[in-house]
Amino acid sequence: MKKDTKIVHAGRDKKWTGQAVNPPVYHASTILFDTVKDLKFALKNFKNKIMFYGRRGTPTHFAFRDAMTELEGGHDCLVYPSGIAAVSAALLSFLRSGDHLLMVDTCYGPTRAFCNKMLKKMGIETTYYDPMIGDGIKDLIKDNTKVIFTESPGSITMEIQDIPAISKVAKKNDIILMIDNTYGNLVNFNPYDHGVDLSIQAATKYIVGHSDAMLGTITCTEKLWPQLQDYSYYMGQTAAPDDINLAMRGIRTIKTRIKQHENSALKVAKWLETRDEVDLILHPAFKDCPGHEIWKRDFNGSNGLFSFTLKQGSEKEISTFLDTLNLFKMGFSWGGFESLAMSFYDLKAERDLPLWDDYGPLIRLHIGLEDADDLIADLEKAFDAIK
Ligand SMILES: *Cc1c(COP(=O)(O)O)cnc(C)c1O
Repeated sequence: MKKDTKIVHAGRDKKWTGQAVNPPVYHASTILFDTVKDLKFALKNFKNKIMFYGRRGTPTHFAFRDAMTELEGGHDCLVYPSGIAAVSAALLSFLRSGDHLLMVDTCYGPTRAFCNKMLKKMGIETTYYDPMIGDGIKDLIKDNTKVIFTESPGSITMEIQDIPAISKVAKKNDIILMIDNTYGNLVNFNPYDHGVDLSIQAATKYIVGHSDAMLGTITCTEKLWPQLQDYSYYMGQTAAPDDINLAMRGIRTIKTRIKQHENSALKVAKWLETRDEVDLILHPAFKDCPGHEIWKRDFNGSNGLFSFTLKQGSEKEISTFLDTLNLFKMGFSWGGFESLAMSFYDLKAERDLPLWDDYGPLIRLHIGLEDADDLIADLEKAFDAIK
């Protein structure tokens, strides 16, 4: 079946939905057992999708987990209260004191903070590697390397990683390959076709899609599943049924939304490319973007998120530019229906590798579902304000 069809039907098993189209929002802590026989059955089967105790999930959770597994791949899926909770659970489930982690230098900022503060304190060493390293990652592997963590495109600067090349090295050395696949959502990148063992989604972004809930997910291979499930449970990880319901609703329109985000972002980026003030278009579909050729080979398309750099611009000019924008709002996150603009990333301080010494000021945009011409007019007004 094609993706559009799967997106409509995923997770809608009658055992979760009953007679309705959608599963109910099922709130529960205590689950009641009618007989000792029922209790004993539950005690034997609590790791499967049955009602046992609220923290293990209800049919709302089970339907969403099924839908995510069907659409992203892997053996099964777990839910977490945020994307970063999913990142930390993935790392804590598979690393122990004395282990070594290879983390991409262009990872999401809070992922880096987790490695530098939490993992370090636990005696887990992190080496940051160049997102363009490809199979050169073999030279960074130590005897105690347990996990290689990827995120493609890179946070803010949008480098595309050669996941298949890294996967080959990981498999040969029996190392777990993880990806933060949030950009890839459920449409743009199929992680299990490219050799990853575990995939994380900040469902907060395109899966929820409406800027009104926080949620994280992890899918993984059958081999990793028992350990991920047990360790996530030890850490008390779960998520609220209302938020899962919003994510489930988001899934049904994700491909339609992504297509619109993609088309509008391409239109805006092409317009930016014609502006004298603009230097680089850091959008995977543009040749300025490091790894553009890999994106063409491995991805199914792009979405609303990209960055661009200006040839020059003082802090005051960038402030004027952002303050002049009206349709583009300023705020963290992305993946909702609304357009966002952000700048003032301290890339030199945030990264180990000196990738960003030579470039002008960077502005990141998320192109929402507004009309692209209106967004272009908004940007034009902002450029006029700093002329
Ligand atoms: C936003 C984001 C996260 C964190 O998700 P939250 O739900 O905000 O915790 C992780 N990784 C990437 C790539 C993100 O964009």
